[in-house]
Amino acid sequence: MVTTKTHAVLLASPGVGHLTPTVELGKRLTTHHGFDVTIFVVMATTDSSDTIKSSLLQQTSNINGLNIIVTPPVDVSDKIDPSDSPLSARIILTMIESLPFIRSEILSMKFPPSVLIVDIFGTTALPMARDLDMSTYVFITSNAWFSAVFMYLPLITNEAFSIHVNNHEPLLIPGCEPVRFEDTLFDSPWGPTHDGFVNNAKNILSVDGILMNTWQDLEPVATKAVTDKEILGRFAKGPVYPVGPLVRTVEPEEKRESENENLILDWLDRQPAESVIFLSFGSGGTLSEVQTRELAYGLELSQQRFVWVVRRPSEDDACAAFFDETKGGGGSTVLDYLPEGFLSRTKEVGICIPGWAPQSEILKHPATGGFVTHCGWNSVLESILSGVPMVTWPLYAEQKMNATLLSEELGVAVRATVAEGGVVFREQIAKQIRRVMVDEEGIAMRIKVKEYKVSGEKALSLFGSSHESLSKMAKECQVRNA
Ligand code: UDP
Repeated sequence: MVTTKTHAVLLASPGVGHLTPTVELGKRLTTHHGFDVTIFVVMATTDSSDTIKSSLLQQTSNINGLNIIVTPPVDVSDKIDPSDSPLSARIILTMIESLPFIRSEILSMKFPPSVLIVDIFGTTALPMARDLDMSTYVFITSNAWFSAVFMYLPLITNEAFSIHVNNHEPLLIPGCEPVRFEDTLFDSPWGPTHDGFVNNAKNILSVDGILMNTWQDLEPVATKAVTDKEILGRFAKGPVYPVGPLVRTVEPEEKRESENENLILDWLDRQPAESVIFLSFGSGGTLSEVQTRELAYGLELSQQRFVWVVRRPSEDDACAAFFDETKGGGGSTVLDYLPEGFLSRTKEVGICIPGWAPQSEILKHPATGGFVTHCGWNSVLESILSGVPMVTWPLYAEQKMNATLLSEELGVAVRATVAEGGVVFREQIAKQIRRVMVDEEGIAMRIKVKEYKVSGEKALSLFGSSHESLSKMAKECQVRNA
């Protein structure tokens, strides 16, 4: 087949937080940069959040040149003990198990793809891509600071690592803010998990290019560090491109998915502008029973209007709902965990939604004025692009670094402090919510976050920094393909 187009295959690892930015990248590559794109949506049998998945897939169904293939769901539960292995290991294993299907689909394509783009959990697909003579890219669906840590990982000596982990000294990253031990990704001694991270980082450094879901003006210092061939950029084989902020776009005319969605948005329509605090802990975040009750009391104390996505509590796993909707997911019995009388006392000022809510739509709604978030990077970007300041409540993965970035560097959030025993108490919750919603400093945060919203939109516009980055990447692919 004779064509001047580039055909790229994108692999989205399990989890809405990985799928959403991958789909948005696919959309931009087709609509702005002339690519044909096939996205493989890798499914685990226990994968949750079907609503958002079907809405994402629906949104892409009429985009010319964008094709979605959902892989047969894979069950890794007999190969890995979920109670004894990190979330990342389960995601990576699901990717590995899906590879034979992906390979055979690629081999049967009439227009053979020349580019493979994977997220950081999909690097086991890179040898296949090289074998098939494809260019290789990794899309880090997070920010430049996190990318910097990952890129530097293979260079961190055992000594520096042990000083960080054992003496709780900050981890020094060239050209970037150091990572405090409290925010670290590595809170356990050197072991198989750490080795796995290092190997993955080496794979990422070996690709033809790295894309990150951030933009130059949001993180000028860390972006310089990772792109500059004199700083961290020298460890990467190919260029590093900031191409964000890529978030799910909310179409005003989009059909509302469910009764729940109507109920929330109709309720928001009746509230004053910027008067509602939204609380949600991502696609997998879960709190303990004590914490859930404390949060309810904290909300009452704050005296603010609210929309709260309530999950079934989980005692020892902060991301219990990520792979398993039955743990921490929806269902009306979830609300039974709330303190007695809470729902009736707050029925005039707030709503509790079991399990899942249309987050992008809620954040975009003019009545929403603040967001209590677990700081998953998609949630962060959705909040910034809606001009909504945050209360950060990080739970897992790189979320503590994200919280620090938001509160200390960007000045668009305040941080909920965890007391000894791992609980954020009600007074603390009320205080941080009021700082964002009521206090003078909340006004300054609101102004700042709206400036970043404008700068993010500018980055994506024609000749904007992220648009230019993706154009360069596209040209590179064409040249290599020619
Ligand atoms: N999300 C949603 N409704 C919910 C919870 C989450 O629509 O009730 C979406 C949210 O808008 C975001 C994604 O799920 O796009 C979660 O991604 P993020 O990176 O914030 O966190 P993760 O779930 O990957 O930890």
